[in-house]
Amino acid sequence: HAKRDGHGGFRLFEPAMHADVLARLELRTDLQRAIDEGELELHYQPVVRLVDRTTTGFEALMRWRHPERGLVSPADFIPIAEETGLIIPMGRWALHEATTHLRALGSLYRMNVNLSAKQLQDPGLVHDVREAIVGIDPGRLTLELTESIVMEDTDHAVAQLTALKALGVRLALDDFGTGYSSLGYLSRLPVDVLKLDRTFLACDEPNLIAAVISLGQALALDVVAEGIEEEAQWRTLRDLGCHYGQGFLFSKPLTAEDSLAAIA
Ligand code: C2E
Ligand code: MG
Ligand code: MG
Ligand code: MG
Repeated sequence: HAKRDGHGGFRLFEPAMHADVLARLELRTDLQRAIDEGELELHYQPVVRLVDRTTTGFEALMRWRHPERGLVSPADFIPIAEETGLIIPMGRWALHEATTHLRALGSLYRMNVNLSAKQLQDPGLVHDVREAIVGIDPGRLTLELTESIVMEDTDHAVAQLTALKALGVRLALDDFGTGYSSLGYLSRLPVDVLKLDRTFLACDEPNLIAAVISLGQALALDVVAEGIEEEAQWRTLRDLGCHYGQGFLFSKPLTAEDSLAAIA
C-alpha cells in the first residue's frame, strides 16, 4: 500500500513495519502476563570503588525471562512499559525486589534502582519507597534518574525528589552527559551522585573526562563512571579521582544468586 508521507509524496509501507506494529501489540499483552506470572528478574551489576576495585554495591537492572524470546533486555520492553503505564507496577516490584536483595547482601553494601519519569509522576512513589526501606539504613538505597525525568514537569518532579530525599535515600543523576541541559539542572536537583555515561569513556578525551569529574567533585557529588571495559580506562579514571565505576571489566550484571556468590 502507498500512503502520503506528509511532504506531498508517497512512500511504501514495508511489510517489516507492519510486523513491528504487531510485535509491539503482542509485547504489550505479554508484558502484563510477565508481571502476573513473575517473568521479570533483576540482575545486579557490581559498583566498585576505583582505588582498590572492591565492590561497594550493586545496580539493579531489569530483565524479562520470556518463555519464547528468552532473556529480553530493558531497551526492548521499558519503553512499552512506560507508554502503557505498566512501568508503575513494574517499578514498584523492582523496588521491593531490589531492597529485599539488599537485606540479603548485608549492611556493607548499597543498592541502586533505576526510576523512570512515569514513576516520578506517580503520587504513590514516596509511599512505596518508604515501605521498601523499612529496616534498612535509607542511605544504602540510591534511586537513579535521568535528566529527561525533570524536563517534563519540573516543579512536580523537584517536589517528589525533595520528598524522597527527606526519607534519607540518595539520588543519582544517571547517563550524565547525554542530555543537553545538564549544568542548569544539576544545581536545581537534590542529587548526591553523578553517573557519567559511558559515551564519555568512548570519546577518549581525557581533558573532557577530567573536567566532568572535577565538576562532580566541586559540587561534592560522588562520581561513578559507567561502562568501564578496559584496564587503561580504569587507570585513567582512578588517577583523575573518579570515586566509583561499573563495567564489564569488573563484572557484567549478575543473577541474584551469582551476586551473593561474588561477595562471599
Ligand atoms: P543504565 O541505568 O544506564 O544502566 C547501565 C547499562 O549499561 C545496563 O544496560 C548495563 O548492563 C550496561 N553496561 C554495564 N557495564 C557496561 C559496559 O562495560 N559496557 C557496555 N557496553 N554496557 C555496560 P541494561 O541492563 O541493558 O539496561 C539499559 C537501561 O535500561 C538502563 O540504563 C536503564 O536506563 C534501563 N533500566 C534497566 N533496568 C531498569 C529498571 O528496573 N527500571 C527502569 N525504569 N529502567 C531500567
Ligand atoms: Mg542506571
Ligand atoms: Mg546509566
Ligand atoms: Mg548509561
